[in-house]
Amino acid sequence: MPPLARLPLNDGHSLPALGFGLWQVPAPDTARVVDQALGLGYRLIDGAAIYGNEEGLGEGLRRSGLPRDDVFVTTKCWNTDQGHDAALRAFDASLARSGLDRVDLYLIHWPCPQRDLFVETWRALIRLRDEGRATSIGVSNFHAPHLERLVDETGVIPAVNQIELHPRLQQAALRETNRRLGIVTQSWSPLGQGRSFDDPVIRAIAARLGRSPAQVILRWHLQIGCSVIPRSTRRDGLAENLALSDFALTAGDLAAIATLDAGGRTGPDPDRFA
Ligand code: NDP
Repeated sequence: MPPLARLPLNDGHSLPALGFGLWQVPAPDTARVVDQALGLGYRLIDGAAIYGNEEGLGEGLRRSGLPRDDVFVTTKCWNTDQGHDAALRAFDASLARSGLDRVDLYLIHWPCPQRDLFVETWRALIRLRDEGRATSIGVSNFHAPHLERLVDETGVIPAVNQIELHPRLQQAALRETNRRLGIVTQSWSPLGQGRSFDDPVIRAIAARLGRSPAQVILRWHLQIGCSVIPRSTRRDGLAENLALSDFALTAGDLAAIATLDAGGRTGPDPDRFA
């Protein structure tokens, strides 16, 4: 799948297979990074209220001169903003910070099952979608029981589930749940924050193909059917992560990477994180 190919969503819309993430991009650098990435050809920006850089996201988008509809913008509702009315207020605040009048995808950032507010938060997102202010709605870090509750209680299936996914945490069961429900899996920390760059299996494939370890890993995400949002604040890194169209992993490469799964989470456990 070419990185800029679009993956269909279950609501009739679609999203670019590859985008770039803004976590830990310093607020003062964000407009420059966004403008640079869009200039290189990226068309999906993954933001979140908690990243503290939504102003730069909007500013970079305007600086790029691209028509608004050419760029897919995601942002997320933070844990402390869960609840019906709180989520609506949080959404308004995100729009105000970014200066946008709609987002393409609004996600519940974490399920926070101890708060037990994700169903009513989801009802707020359904309202935002119905009003056209969030074109698509989805979730992040949701496990199968969380997804099933949303569907059982509201009848609305998320378009996307953005989850931690990289060679050391391959999430086969959750990917299968997403697939069964018609939800696109989007991989966060897709490079495992660099943890697999020195893995001998990845290095051998990279050497054979004349590609970098990062490119091999990103290509793997696309070939297993995931959307992917790597982060780089360097121009060279952004360009490298987008150059994935002119090579492919073999079935043998995919099988070799499948052996690297180690339950190696870098982030919190979604069942416990509040
Ligand atoms: P990644 O797995 O994308 O790794 C980023 C790290 O890899 C950076 O240190 C970057 O450094 C380096 N890197 C990137 N490209 C290359 C390259 N080609 N060669 C060498 N090094 C490279 O980590 P993130 O944790 O940032 O995840 C990506 C995005 O996922 C986030 O920005 C965010 O949007 C999203 N996310 C979502 C979460 C959620 O709960 N929904 C949680 C965490 C992340 P450098 O900048 O120097 O290139």
